[in-house]
Amino acid sequence: MHLRIIACLLSVILLSSASLPKTGPIPEKKPESAETKKPAEKKIEKVPAPNKDKTPLPTPEDTEPLPQKPEAEPEPVLTIEPEDGKEYAACLTALKQIGATFREETRIDDGKGCGIDKPLTLETVLPGVALKPEGKMRCETALELARWTKEAVLPAAKAALGNEGPLTAIDQASSYVCRLRNNGTTGKISEHARGNAIDIASFTFKSGKSIEIQPRDEDSTLIGAFQRAVTATGCLYFKTVLDPGSDEAHENHLHFDVLERKNGYRYCR
Ligand SMILES: [Zn+2]
Repeated sequence: MHLRIIACLLSVILLSSASLPKTGPIPEKKPESAETKKPAEKKIEKVPAPNKDKTPLPTPEDTEPLPQKPEAEPEPVLTIEPEDGKEYAACLTALKQIGATFREETRIDDGKGCGIDKPLTLETVLPGVALKPEGKMRCETALELARWTKEAVLPAAKAALGNEGPLTAIDQASSYVCRLRNNGTTGKISEHARGNAIDIASFTFKSGKSIEIQPRDEDSTLIGAFQRAVTATGCLYFKTVLDPGSDEAHENHLHFDVLERKNGYRYCR
């Protein structure tokens, strides 16, 4: 009997010891936690999925590099800016009304960004005031030249040189020409190469008197006052004014151009 009892006790002990390792498997809980991670991973997978649906997000990123391309500015320089049809028509009307004479020319494209979409050959700036020699430029350039001549140059000429008779000619040194700034071999393209610029070398009066542009900052005569007056008023019409005081490249002429700048900024030196 004792042996049976002992055997029973041993079997109970063995069974209980065997059951302990079964209940002990804590690692079984880990797989459970691993299962909870799996749905979490599925959720993560679902998150990128809607991102894929939001494909418009990548496209704005694609549009960002686009504005970066113009910053390099290789393309704008090499293309001829198209003239706005309505603005061009309005300009032609204003140019006729002010009394300028001109010929409309065919599109100029000399390559390397040189050219004018709708060029004009300006013959006379105002009635009785010739452009010598006649020159090719954009309508906007011609119109600003005409307005400046009428509203600023003629009054200044009458005040300073009235005894020489009326102004009969504006003598230009350069209108449209395909070249870089300051005739350089490197650098930016000149506004002359876009029809935006006109260089003025002198003013001729009916008497034959000619007033040449030269350094006159210290000129205390009426001629000095005349040149300084027309130079200063040039900035009311043109976006860029360079005179003999700006640098050696402009010792003998006034450079005017209508290059648009940000915020309406004007460069007049
Ligand atoms: Zn110039």
